[in-house]
Amino acid sequence: MEAYKNVYSNGEVIVTYEPSRCIHAEACAKGLSSVFKTSVIPWIDLDGASSKKIIAQVKKCPSGALSCTKVKSRSFVKDIVI
Ligand code: SF4
Repeated sequence: MEAYKNVYSNGEVIVTYEPSRCIHAEACAKGLSSVFKTSVIPWIDLDGASSKKIIAQVKKCPSGALSCTKVKSRSFVKDIVI
């Protein structure tokens, strides 16, 4: 059975969040609060920082709940982002 994931994109990167893997250490919110928010829905706002900063922060997620991929084709993003 595939785990539920939330998918976000700013057109340059695609960030996925898998709630079942999150250990709520809040490393993301403490490290880049303009993107990863603890009290606002949607809690990931990819307009809050550059793609470079977002990628760097996602790499620090201790559980692997966050992951990201660089966008190669904008039409691909259009298909998956709701
Ligand atoms: S850094 Fe990863 S494990 Fe920690 S709160 Fe964010 S998503 Fe969850």
